[in-house]
Amino acid sequence: MTKQQQQPVFPQVSGKAILVINCGSSSLKFSLIQPECGTTLLSGLAEYLTTAQARINIKYNIGLSNEEQLATSALVAPFDHQVALSTLVNKLVQLNLVDSIVAVGHRVVHGGEHYAQPTLINTNVKQTIAKLAKLAPLHNPANLIGINACQQAFSKLPQVAVFDTAFHQSMPEKAYLYGLPFELYQQHNIRRYGFHGTSHYFVAKQAAKLLNKPLVQCSFISAHLGNGCSVTVIKNGESVDTSMGMTPLEGVMMGTRSGDVDAGIIFHLVEQLGFSIKQVDTLLNKKSGLLGLSQLSNDCRTLEAAMLDKSHPKSVQAKLALTVFCYRIAKSIASFSASLHELDGLIFTGGIGENSAWVRQEIISQLGLLNFHLCEKSNQATRFGASGNIALNTARACWVIATNEEWVIAEQSAQLLTSNSAGKL
Ligand code: ADP
Repeated sequence: MTKQQQQPVFPQVSGKAILVINCGSSSLKFSLIQPECGTTLLSGLAEYLTTAQARINIKYNIGLSNEEQLATSALVAPFDHQVALSTLVNKLVQLNLVDSIVAVGHRVVHGGEHYAQPTLINTNVKQTIAKLAKLAPLHNPANLIGINACQQAFSKLPQVAVFDTAFHQSMPEKAYLYGLPFELYQQHNIRRYGFHGTSHYFVAKQAAKLLNKPLVQCSFISAHLGNGCSVTVIKNGESVDTSMGMTPLEGVMMGTRSGDVDAGIIFHLVEQLGFSIKQVDTLLNKKSGLLGLSQLSNDCRTLEAAMLDKSHPKSVQAKLALTVFCYRIAKSIASFSASLHELDGLIFTGGIGENSAWVRQEIISQLGLLNFHLCEKSNQATRFGASGNIALNTARACWVIATNEEWVIAEQSAQLLTSNSAGKL
């Protein structure tokens, strides 16, 4: 069988690329990816947009010399998303890559209950994304900026939205409803949605490959541990529960987010300690988690280094923060066993999950009842891009798998176009 025959899903996009865009209010991450194999041809970040520090960095993975790599056109700050995209377009033209692009795939954070699948963007879809800004006020408007800018810069290309919430739309009512008056759900869409969906889906798919089983026959618990952290339980290939809720604040403790707290604390902060609602928001989202407890940093590397250096003034505090972080994640993993009859294994991903042997060991050491036991040697060896099973042979599997949300967005955009408009590409 030739390579092309083995990949009948993407006949039209073979050899083509998808431009993947992840747009924040002042940043724009982009990568040009071949959907069939996940090869990144080019990637980059424009940041501090619309400020005097605005800058853009493009990294080429197509064998250019250093000299060529550095020859990015000099831009005068401040500049905005549109200018950053024009710079990118010029580069793509220069590199003869523009004709290889068949679509733009956008990461969109909140799809509410409207989108369980990747969706071709049109005016209606944009209006719905704008309406859903009520549920994701920081993210959806920024995602729309990226969509609008790309529609101008790549007016002939189809644009696809891939939603962070989509994978979790398979959650049953018992998992997505809060114990709140039902009319809040009916009238105001207050329910649990979950995030990091593309990442949990990608690592589950990779773990199924490692098991040599179809994803629909697999059950996993996956822990995405980065600056944001979430745990998801996947049954027969579908998300059936996840730790994040209506917003990414719920669930396990994170870099700067508290995760679950007694909601009564909010009344206490406001009524007894004089906090404004805005201050509570900042406290819970930006000043809590690893940063708040350690009084040092939200960065796991900094905390591990401080914990191990007994002379560091925050050594004890750093260890405390990491210990609470790991205990809360272990509790979340254990609680999700309530959703499953069988479990093929646990998956660690995200910057911390992929790299911190200490965090993985600390979490797994509290999950012996579920027959999780790490092989110390494999745990130490599986870092910095290495992946694989880090459990003892006699124990339940525990994989480290590097996530690749961009590849999922490229792949799903290509699949959508192939099924929607065969022959047009
Ligand atoms: P984001 O959620 O912003 O995408 P990442 O997935 O890149 O973040 O994760 C960032 C986190 O990963 C940080 O806390 C960082 O300290 C942690 N991390 C990265 N490398 C290591 C490492 N070698 N050891 C421990 N933690 C690491």
